[in-house]
Amino acid sequence: MSLLATRLLAIVGLLCCIVPVAAAQWLHEEREYMGTKITVEYRLPKSTNTPVEADALFESVFREFQRLDLMMNPWNPRSELARVNREAATRSVHTTPEIIDVVARALHYSQLSDGAFDISFASVGQHYNYREGQAPSQDVLARDRDKIDYTAIQLDRDRREIRFLKAGLQIDLGGIAKGYAVDRAIAILSNAGVSAAVVSAGGDSRILGDMGDRARTVGIRHPRREGEYAVLMPLADTAISTSGDYERFFIKDGVRYHHILDPGTGESALKVQSASVLAERAIDSDALSTTVFVLGVERGLALINALPGIDAIIIDGSGRLHYSEELLLSVDSK
Ligand code: ADP
Ligand code: MG
Repeated sequence: MSLLATRLLAIVGLLCCIVPVAAAQWLHEEREYMGTKITVEYRLPKSTNTPVEADALFESVFREFQRLDLMMNPWNPRSELARVNREAATRSVHTTPEIIDVVARALHYSQLSDGAFDISFASVGQHYNYREGQAPSQDVLARDRDKIDYTAIQLDRDRREIRFLKAGLQIDLGGIAKGYAVDRAIAILSNAGVSAAVVSAGGDSRILGDMGDRARTVGIRHPRREGEYAVLMPLADTAISTSGDYERFFIKDGVRYHHILDPGTGESALKVQSASVLAERAIDSDALSTTVFVLGVERGLALINALPGIDAIIIDGSGRLHYSEELLLSVDSK
């Protein structure tokens, strides 16, 4: 059986979040970090854990989310990322191993996607305010669009330094940091002896193991019908991320302004309604779901089909579903 076939046990039907399943000895806690709801669930290892240990484990997982949130939130002037944004256009900035690792992975996906994924989208993205319904004017777009340029982000991994080669360039890790944090959470649980867990940060989830007797049912939200699912899938041992145009948006003069920007224009990417990506690690599914969202059906599937062990489900502009090749194969073979 292929890696994928073990991961995706079946496509159940038409319908990003986890469908809650209550089961004995599974513990569940939710908190807010990184601007979204974080859900941590795990199955108590039978022999070792006492209730006190179980609480301590939740604490260490949520502390990690809090630590990364404080480090990587570009809107918090006291964060390390805000300092990088203030200083890196004038000199090389020595920064944390976590920021260096996440930026390096982001640049990898920028190169793979010819700039569809670009953390310097923030050079323009900082002028949007979705809550207030504000988008940058054409003048601001014209002024700042060329500051979206991942090739102007210089990284020295050995020295742990980052430098921007363009004044006014700003970075935001919102398309990849939640996935990274989910991976860290799963590592903490796994190192503590947990063999079955689900961790979700908004649209980014990772499943460790399975539910014991069955796979975990994961739903992809219907992009236009609140509270409904477009797809339900039983999954085990995988990460899945969904990027949608319904998360943070406003509609003005018939145009949908939302939080995923096409780096070529500095405006919201409008090709699809939702893109979901399955990968082993959530840092990869997170970055790639945003990437595929920007690329659209054709170029998005071409990219995913070229990456071994990665799959995608796209809901196009008219609500039709598109699957990557390996997913189609595993559906056909059922
Ligand atoms: P969500 O944050 O809703 O889970 P995504 O993973 O798709 O959804 O990430 C969207 C976020 O990614 C945006 O809020 C923004 O921070 C960032 N982003 C937007 N456009 C791009 C882009 N072209 N490349 C990289 N990151 C982006
Ligand atoms: Mg993403």
